[in-house]
Amino acid sequence: MSDRPVVTRIAPSPTGSMHIGTARTALFNWLYAKHTGGKFLLRIEDTDRERSTEAAVQVIFDGLAWLGLTPDEEPVFQFARAERHVLAAQELLAKGNAYRCYMTIEETSAEREIARAEGRAIRSPWRDSGANFNDRPHVIRFKSPQEGETVVRDKVKGDVTFQNKDLDDLILLRTDGTPTYNLAVIVDDHEMGITHVIRGDDHLNNAARQTQIYEALGWEVPVWAHLPMINGPDGKKLSKRHGAQAVSEFDDMGYLPEAMRNYLARLGWGHGNDEIFSDDQAASWFELEDVVGAPARLDWDKLNHLNNHYIRQAEIGRLADLVTAIHKSRDHALHDGDQDILLRTIPLVRDGAKTMLELTDATVFALKRRPLELPEKIKGMLSEETRARLGRLRQALEAQAAWEVSDLEAALRSFAESEGVGMGKFGPALRGVLSGGSPAPDLAGALVSLGKSESLGRLDDALSQAA
Ligand code: GLU
Repeated sequence: MSDRPVVTRIAPSPTGSMHIGTARTALFNWLYAKHTGGKFLLRIEDTDRERSTEAAVQVIFDGLAWLGLTPDEEPVFQFARAERHVLAAQELLAKGNAYRCYMTIEETSAEREIARAEGRAIRSPWRDSGANFNDRPHVIRFKSPQEGETVVRDKVKGDVTFQNKDLDDLILLRTDGTPTYNLAVIVDDHEMGITHVIRGDDHLNNAARQTQIYEALGWEVPVWAHLPMINGPDGKKLSKRHGAQAVSEFDDMGYLPEAMRNYLARLGWGHGNDEIFSDDQAASWFELEDVVGAPARLDWDKLNHLNNHYIRQAEIGRLADLVTAIHKSRDHALHDGDQDILLRTIPLVRDGAKTMLELTDATVFALKRRPLELPEKIKGMLSEETRARLGRLRQALEAQAAWEVSDLEAALRSFAESEGVGMGKFGPALRGVLSGGSPAPDLAGALVSLGKSESLGRLDDALSQAA
């Protein structure tokens, strides 16, 4: 291998969604580029013109931006480079490493059947004919070696040996002159200076064919690293029934991008027993040799654990903005002052949140508008005796100057003592009145979230309603 500066890439085909397998591939390419001080590039493989809509391409840009995996250069669009691909095919023709094949569709399928029955690769009768009838429809095929073997030296899978007799003569240019995937990939990777091709192991067979074409063109073969698939928790191919498979779905379910990065890094790679690490740590540790060859399994418990960790670490203002966006997406009208309520509430409730959706749910009580609608169950707690007690508590709270959790905990305790009762005698009713029955932190936390005047106001409303 030469000592060219490392250049990695992802080369997604726009399909309308970005699979987490693609996200993990992007992450590994990004980590390896960072690890080596190299570059991470993006190529959009948009040769399927029907699927490659602007919106489908945007999904890839959005997915990478959300994950924080920014390519180091402007994206390359494969379709626009067709002329370059054609030139490479012509070069192979000129060198005798490719040929014009005039087999018709019927002849090709007949040969396919025979080849299958004989357990060999498809062969074209035109391979050594040197034929060149300008006016007859034909494809350009690669003249792949028929003897010997091709070894894919893979950083993850080790040396994988393919018998050349098993590899058919790949089509490089179709009848309409358009390049095929394998040709386009090679030309683009070569001209983009890609040194390391790190991608899903569904491309391992392609790597053998691509190796042959690189060699025929006299181009340096990149370092291969084929990553194992990500399966569902049951070890089967990840699908809808496992809960989510697209990057945007993980976003919608309330996972933070840094949690996804940390989680995806552990899918197929690891550094000892380290569960939680920063991007910089991952980049400094990341070696392709440490990627495991066996398929990884999505594990929701681990992802939730990491997400909870990053929710607990995140800046409150950022969480408040994310929570606000989720409330809006649920058509909850927000008001002036709600941002302050969120800034006070989030630190009190985030420890229990596994996702941003759960965190949002935990703030619902604080954003309610007075007067709250109290469920019957809570109304039922407001007996004559309890109302009188809450009235006295209201006075005690009004006299309370310091409105912090510890002060309020002390105030509630001393109120209970002065009443000669346990907290159980009024706590649940107070909680119900403050929260309207929605999940809320403990009493002192709920009071802090709401602030003094909102807390007293909710008490007043309940006491006047409940008669
Ligand atoms: N466009 C291919 C895909 O989406 C990737 C090709 C490659 O990485 O070489 O599977």
